[in-house]
Amino acid sequence: MFDKLHEECGVFGIFGHPEASNLSYLGLYALQHRGQESCGIVASDGTRLRAHRGMGLVADVFKDEEIFNRLSGRSAIGHVRYSTAGGSDIKNVQPIMVDYLRGSIAVAHNGNLVNAQEIRNELELAGSIFSTTSDTEVIVHLLARAQADSLPDRIGQVLQDVRGAYSLVFLTETRMVAVRDPNGFRPLVLGRLDGAYVVASESCAFDLIEAEFIREIEPGEMVLIDKEGMKSYQPFGKANPTPCIFEHIYFARPDSVVFGRQVYGVRKEFGRMLAREHAVDADVVIPIPDSGVPAAIGYAEESGIPFQLGLIRNHYVGRTFIEPQQSIRHFGVKIKLNPVREVIEGKRVVVIDDSIVRGTTARKIIKMIRAAGAKEIHVRISSPPTSFPCYYGIDTPTRKELISSSHTIEEINRYITSDTLGYLSREGMREAAGLPGSKGGHFCDACFSGFYPVKFPRLKADSQLGLF
Ligand code: AMP
Repeated sequence: MFDKLHEECGVFGIFGHPEASNLSYLGLYALQHRGQESCGIVASDGTRLRAHRGMGLVADVFKDEEIFNRLSGRSAIGHVRYSTAGGSDIKNVQPIMVDYLRGSIAVAHNGNLVNAQEIRNELELAGSIFSTTSDTEVIVHLLARAQADSLPDRIGQVLQDVRGAYSLVFLTETRMVAVRDPNGFRPLVLGRLDGAYVVASESCAFDLIEAEFIREIEPGEMVLIDKEGMKSYQPFGKANPTPCIFEHIYFARPDSVVFGRQVYGVRKEFGRMLAREHAVDADVVIPIPDSGVPAAIGYAEESGIPFQLGLIRNHYVGRTFIEPQQSIRHFGVKIKLNPVREVIEGKRVVVIDDSIVRGTTARKIIKMIRAAGAKEIHVRISSPPTSFPCYYGIDTPTRKELISSSHTIEEINRYITSDTLGYLSREGMREAAGLPGSKGGHFCDACFSGFYPVKFPRLKADSQLGLF
């Protein structure tokens, strides 16, 4: 059994640069928000792959020069990984690297395969021995068995069998392959640096290493890079893009260009739309930092209510902050956030966040703002109610734990103890996101709608209704 179905990750790759592993390290640094639990780099010197992987943040895992001397060569791929407790294990750290009949291959995966367990069961029955509990390993096993002559054909063949979300980067001794699933759930971008090709989950990685952004790798596109240059393949025929709207709502960095639009601007649009849909008389708009900041700026601009920083975040507490023992657990939110009394006292406050998942964070924050003297608290959420789990690579709890799957907005308002609560509508979200080439946006919003664009065994026909 897999420890955990859901993972959030970031991937990076560079081909043809003398400082490949150093640049991968910097790239991963810029992608750290996509995963803080573990990370790794695999580099090739043209004849051999070498790996360095570990649990922890990029800066902690790659902390001495010696590591980079060992990771020599002109090409490298890297990975940052996040998973919740249970899936957290050194054996699952990526990139996965294996030796097989044709040489060595490493793979870094962002996303989640929905039929990995089925395939794994079949492979295990046929005698395969797995060494991780990660869904990504099935790709490696299938690849070792694939019969086609060329590497792109073998990868293409394997990807016909797996379903779900994947932005993948492969590295062999002499080639790098980057591929995005036909739905294009997770982002993947292509760039150039000093004649080398680079790929990354988000363009913010290119900004740091001063690579030029060329374009997105298209949904369903496979790109092969070797010493001859770059070739593009379409192994799936017609793609059916449904990129993940949650990348724009919460997950990606606001300075990244994702699915053709800079995330910051999209988040501000969500905030503007929210102000139109849920106006309220108030004195101040404050974000829950950092995720609520761009939407709060949009809300403030649209409503004319001044924007203020009413909560200050301690940036040295990562997302992987380990909850203390039960006795002091309620300190959790206080460790991250502290109210600015001067901004809040005696005021009617609009509090903006990007999403409510379980409702526990919002409840604690509202209490904190109330204790700082707020007269009224109006919570505005820059996405629709999150009622359905994600099976495509965003870590969400089970349906039972998602507060809006079983509670009305009024009940949630009471639970989090706000005076009023308003969510962005699905239509408002679509309009604000206005993804290019997709009138109103063909993107995956399964977490809000329960409509899952890629079916999987456990859901079958019920998926359309979100019944599971
Ligand atoms: P809660 O309602 O207590 O579960 O927490 C909601 C907060 O979690 C919001 O501030 C979001 O910004 C943040 N959030 C939303 N989705 C995720 C996710 N997949 N991983 C980590 N944090 C998230």
